[in-house]
Amino acid sequence: MTDYDYRCQRQRAIDRDMTEVCKSLGISLSTRGKWRECCCPNPQHDDRHPSCRVNVQTNRFHCFSCGCGGNNIDLVRLVRGCSYMEAVAWLLDTHADLLRDTAKRAQAPEEIKETEQLDTPWLHALVSPRAYYRSLAPWARDFFQQRRIDPNLIDAKGIVSIDQSVATQRGKRLSSHGNPYTPTFPAPALLFPYRDENDILVNLQARLQHPEEGQQRFHFPPGSRTALWNPHDALTLPDGADLWLCEGVTDALALLSSGRPALALASATSLTADAADFIARQASRLRLHIYPYNDPAGNALYTRLLALCPALRHHSLPATFKDFGQAWAAAVIPPLFSRDSEING
Ligand SMILES: [Zn+2]
Repeated sequence: MTDYDYRCQRQRAIDRDMTEVCKSLGISLSTRGKWRECCCPNPQHDDRHPSCRVNVQTNRFHCFSCGCGGNNIDLVRLVRGCSYMEAVAWLLDTHADLLRDTAKRAQAPEEIKETEQLDTPWLHALVSPRAYYRSLAPWARDFFQQRRIDPNLIDAKGIVSIDQSVATQRGKRLSSHGNPYTPTFPAPALLFPYRDENDILVNLQARLQHPEEGQQRFHFPPGSRTALWNPHDALTLPDGADLWLCEGVTDALALLSSGRPALALASATSLTADAADFIARQASRLRLHIYPYNDPAGNALYTRLLALCPALRHHSLPATFKDFGQAWAAAVIPPLFSRDSEING
């Protein structure tokens, strides 16, 4: 179960009709009106005459004698003398349909709103020009130098490196087991800022420098739906201009360093409906190009993109290179223009 599923279920447990929850707890209520009466459920309160009311409109209870009250979870905790998590678990066990509803929703992940989940002010603080983390370690400089990435580009795109893992948000989240934890970007890693069509920072992606066996190299914060890197630059291109599509930020940086305007998919599998729509719109006014990766996922992506933009121009990499970035690093693909000749000429 994902965190999102858990939070949906917990919310349903809170929203569950309290008169039904009372029934499951063996509390008998008066049957009419907005306020239903019962004897106080607080074991500390020896209530002989009904002092407690359940408000069926707000779905909360309140004892007018001892003052206890709250929502369904508070009620279960009070009656069963259990913890918050145990109360949620008990509600889900007792009202199985709360789980069924979530299973239905889980099949429609597009309902997840990124803004509900990501702490973008916090992400922005990590990479803002005055941020503590705004630095590029020597290993990160080497990484870009070996790949022949233009250093000005690293600065312009706000890319930073971290040597210690950093929280992806303020505060904690709940794991699928209901345990609070702080999600982090692993380290050492590069942090790639993702900006939207309006050039507003919407997310950060960590590129782990030394992933352990079985560990993924790229990490978004939990709940991310970000799919495109650099869409704003694509919008600034004049009609009829060339735009290169690619997989991942490092390849896009290589394309940009070679003088090729680039739009990156976060990964070969991240072509969301919104991203597909954006690419299709660019295809109607720009000339789109691609150097497909020399692997099955790269070819599958090329096929999907070709369906979106039939005029997509295919460029082949030399067979020994997996992606454009490798070929660019090895200097086997010429720049689209020579910066030197521009400066000297
Ligand atoms: Zn009471």
